[in-house]
Amino acid sequence: MDIQKLKQEAAWHSLSWESIYSLLDTSGKGLTNEESSARLSQFGPNKLPESSKTTLSRIILHQVMNPLIFILVLAALVSILIGEGEDAIFILLVILINTGLGTYQEYNAEKSAQALQQLMKIQAKVHRSGQIKTVSSEDLVPGDLVYLESGMKVPADIRLWEASVLEIDESFLTGESLASKKKTGNLELEITVPDRINMAFAGATVLSGRGKGVVVETGISTQVGKIAQNVAKGTSAKPPLILRMEKFIKQITFFIVGLSFIIAFILNWQGMDWASIFFFVVALAVSAIPEGLPVALTVALSIATRRMAKRNVIVRRLNAVEALGSCTIIASDKTGTLTVNQQTAKKILLDNGNRYSVLGEGYNGEGAIEAENYEKDDPQALEALVRVGIMANEGGLRKEGSDWIHHGDAMDVALLGLGFKHGRDPEEMKQSYHTGGIIPYESERKFSGAFYTLEDEIRFGAKGALETILGFCHCDQEFIDQKVKEAENYASKGYRVLAFAEGVSLTFEKKDTYSEEDIPKLHFLGMVCFIDPLRSEAKESIKKCKQAGIKVLMITGDHPATALNISKELGIAVDGRQVVTGQMLLDAGSTESEAYHKLVINSSVFARVSPIQKLEIVDVLIKAGEFVAVTGDGVNDAPALKRANIGVAMGSGTDVAKEVGSMIVTDDNFSSIVAGVEEGRFAYDNVRKVIFLLISTGGALVLLVLLAILFGLPLPFLAVQLLWLNLVTNGIQDVALAFEGGEPGAMKKRPRKPSETIFNSVMINQTLVASITIGVIVFGFWYWLIEIQKMSEYHARDLALLLMVFMQNFHAFNSRSETTSIFKIPLKRNWILVIGVIAAQGIHILSMHIPFMQKALKIGPITLQEWFYVILLAIPILIVMELFKLYTNRKSESEK
Ligand code: ADP
Ligand code: MG
Repeated sequence: MDIQKLKQEAAWHSLSWESIYSLLDTSGKGLTNEESSARLSQFGPNKLPESSKTTLSRIILHQVMNPLIFILVLAALVSILIGEGEDAIFILLVILINTGLGTYQEYNAEKSAQALQQLMKIQAKVHRSGQIKTVSSEDLVPGDLVYLESGMKVPADIRLWEASVLEIDESFLTGESLASKKKTGNLELEITVPDRINMAFAGATVLSGRGKGVVVETGISTQVGKIAQNVAKGTSAKPPLILRMEKFIKQITFFIVGLSFIIAFILNWQGMDWASIFFFVVALAVSAIPEGLPVALTVALSIATRRMAKRNVIVRRLNAVEALGSCTIIASDKTGTLTVNQQTAKKILLDNGNRYSVLGEGYNGEGAIEAENYEKDDPQALEALVRVGIMANEGGLRKEGSDWIHHGDAMDVALLGLGFKHGRDPEEMKQSYHTGGIIPYESERKFSGAFYTLEDEIRFGAKGALETILGFCHCDQEFIDQKVKEAENYASKGYRVLAFAEGVSLTFEKKDTYSEEDIPKLHFLGMVCFIDPLRSEAKESIKKCKQAGIKVLMITGDHPATALNISKELGIAVDGRQVVTGQMLLDAGSTESEAYHKLVINSSVFARVSPIQKLEIVDVLIKAGEFVAVTGDGVNDAPALKRANIGVAMGSGTDVAKEVGSMIVTDDNFSSIVAGVEEGRFAYDNVRKVIFLLISTGGALVLLVLLAILFGLPLPFLAVQLLWLNLVTNGIQDVALAFEGGEPGAMKKRPRKPSETIFNSVMINQTLVASITIGVIVFGFWYWLIEIQKMSEYHARDLALLLMVFMQNFHAFNSRSETTSIFKIPLKRNWILVIGVIAAQGIHILSMHIPFMQKALKIGPITLQEWFYVILLAIPILIVMELFKLYTNRKSESEK
């Protein structure tokens, strides 16, 4: 049957389920694996056409559209006109090599950025061949049965079959800012898109609740696909660091162009002809302007993102790399980030006084429930608690062969395990007690519940935070106080405590679905205590943060006593005075108030806080001048993630969180965040190294030329030699520096101030010292050769050029660290630089002997003895920069 054709006329919201099923050739059980892959080839992947990618030709164009290249082309043309064919060929060669290198680097950076995009694909939960599976949303086909949960992006156009408190934000489609409350059931044919409340549309965001439905349209046939054939987001904007550098290069360019005019006039006055002046000035500008900087920096940042990806951190915005280096506070979730989120039920405290220990570990049903203290013979009480744990539950746990397969929330899975240990099969129980829908767990609600029919009664069972559950129960203050104390006792030992209650109502008529208004008064059943082990690396990472001057905060929805116990063990807090609860924040009043401010600044553990309070805490910290990284996973965390300087989304988190976060931690692990900070600092240091190398060598060249002119000496280098110098000293080395491995001390420094520019006092000083040292030594040498030795200009240039090549190559090694002696940095930390420098030396020496290059560069061979002296003369740049490092280290030592 031709599904495609039939589908064309379908108005999905108004059809009955029979016609939908027959149109899509599916059923309430979804498709089989085979059927879905057959349909995938028929309908194509479920995605919208992407905006045009950056292609190779575009990158080349970008490289060529550079004023410096234009000038060089002009210079080549002039060379041809005045009959200097060799010069022209050489200049064209320089252009070719320069754009070649630049293109290669930019292309690589672009490619790794695209590879990272691949990792961030949206996932969908589908029912195929009788099982719940997670697949890439691109693999969805019409007829698939899919699940929706809060925080998800709707993966395709879906006709809803089940909707419990399902609210979807489809403003991007309808312009309607209020969330659409979804219901099931047929609608009139004429109803417009915003009112089709039995549909979920691709690209919309699930704000709360759960839903289930059948995919009816995919890819460009969806509503978004129809209105916008091309809504894919363009590549993200350039990071601020690169923008600042581009601006900086513009300034330098203006400066050097201005200077060039002055030099040109002086040279003319000294008797040089205009054609030679033109070549010289162009060459000087090309070598002094650090035109390779933006590319080298992009490379540095993209290497950082690649290194971070290896350490489980995916950077969504390149500026996060830069920002991570400034981070002063990491505000972390507890569950899953500092702990492994492997919940296991350990104790059961029934309301009748009976107490049990639960045996067994991990996500399985093996173990037993043993009485510790059996006060009352009341088997129904334990049964009821286990029942609520199974019914008010969205997880799954089953045995396949000898393996246990699980999905869903960790607490839920643990409770299913408890069900097995009590001798119940959760799946069977769910099926035999007809369910009337569930109220799903959301972090601001702090409980989950379910309606079900048992012995002809309609019952409601709930599990959740003790305070919340007690609110549903008939109980007096004394009872509440007693329970709170009991829970507190276990929480302070590190247990997570969950309370259970159940209620019966005969007054309700039977309905298909129930909602929160239908909840009857409940009867308190008892509590279960869970253990969630700490992540073994977390403690070490927190210590590392302390050394790096970064404060770690815990923000959790859990009980304050549980939070404190865990914080103490991790070294986040010392005692209860550092713990603040959501209630205390409420009592402190307005977020603007002094009291609120003090509470936030002086605490390190925030317990029982709501997502809104999380946002407020972040806000107060940022206003206090901190640079904050915040973790989050739910829809509700999105505002806090957005507000934070660095939003860290959890890999297991919702699509919404990942979308607003500036980075994603794929393993949810706190240690990975710290690894990200470390890589961020490395990257920033590398950026500084590249800038230092390029600016200081450019400065040296300008100084040398100015000195020569001032002393009335001939110019030390010819135009082609300047271009050559630019190629062999900067062409590879600047990018090689971007590959520098991290310096071990990076996490022992305090965070950099966000307001601090790259050109801080250290940078300015070291640049001046290096430029002056190189410029003055080469000039002195030139002066000695010409004025004292009366050497021929031709041979003197050979020597001066070689000295410059040596100095700049040595200086590339100086640039490897601002603080560490180059003799203490292992060569193996950057083979690319070592090889690059050796290659540059080799090429230069070869050129002195190859006839074509001799002619083009106007250079000739030198003796071994001369070579030796030139090396000796280049060594001072190493000594001077070593001394400079010693001096700055001393100074920062004494400032501490
Ligand atoms: P955390 O910040 O540690 O991740 P949550 O916000 O997930 O904490 O949980 C807060 C509280 O909500 C818990 O202390 C618990 O009482 C309750 N809770 C957590 N998960 C569930 C669940 N699946 N069902 C019912 N209640 C839950
Ligand atoms: Mg949680």
